[in-house]
Amino acid sequence: SATSSQPTAAATTKKSLPKGIVLGPDGKPCRSCNSFRDFFSATSGGAAPPTAPTEAASNCPPDVEQLGRAGWTLLHTIAASYPSEANPAQQEDMKNFMSIFARIYPCWSCAEDFRTWMSKPENDVRNVVQGRKTFGKWLCDAHNDVNVKLGKKPFDCFKWEERWRTGGKG
Ligand code: FAD
Repeated sequence: SATSSQPTAAATTKKSLPKGIVLGPDGKPCRSCNSFRDFFSATSGGAAPPTAPTEAASNCPPDVEQLGRAGWTLLHTIAASYPSEANPAQQEDMKNFMSIFARIYPCWSCAEDFRTWMSKPENDVRNVVQGRKTFGKWLCDAHNDVNVKLGKKPFDCFKWEERWRTGGKG
């Protein structure tokens, strides 16, 4: 994301890098923070990827989109298996898991924006860990925040359980 405070190529003196490329702590393009196409272009002097990005990336470490799909799949599936009424220990585990996840998610710029979203009083994870319904809805809202930021249509959160737990009818 371009809203984060760590450097993007535009904010550095590395003139050779295309604008908007997110850098890692080592000052090099961050593989898990950029699309494969952008990462390839930034690390190959501006050349286009040799084949379709998804095909070319299939044997490579994940780009921001592959990591994102896997990340959301893990998170929503964890929500789907969360008890409808979680006990205090389960609630504590979930709070800890989400705050650690938001610190160690490998796309640092995504993680930073996620922590910013989580830090708003109305998005406080402590208020939603009592059970599956509240936690699943919270995660759906979190995902929608990213969808909107990326210019995508928000997902209908009334359908999150059908998408991630029960499956569609028929
Ligand atoms: P995804 O958004 O990955 O969604 C996968 C599937 O989930 C969809 O096909 C749909 O069936 C379902 N779905 C969609 N929305 C919802 C919802 N609200 N609730 C439940 N199910 C839903 N990418 C960036 O470029 N910048 C970022 O700052 C960024 N931040 C991220 C933060 C986190 C915590 C994670 C896990 C990912 C982040 N990503 C970010 C990745 C981004 O959200 C997408 O995963 C990526 O762009 C691939 O998108 P996609 O269209 O394939 O579907």
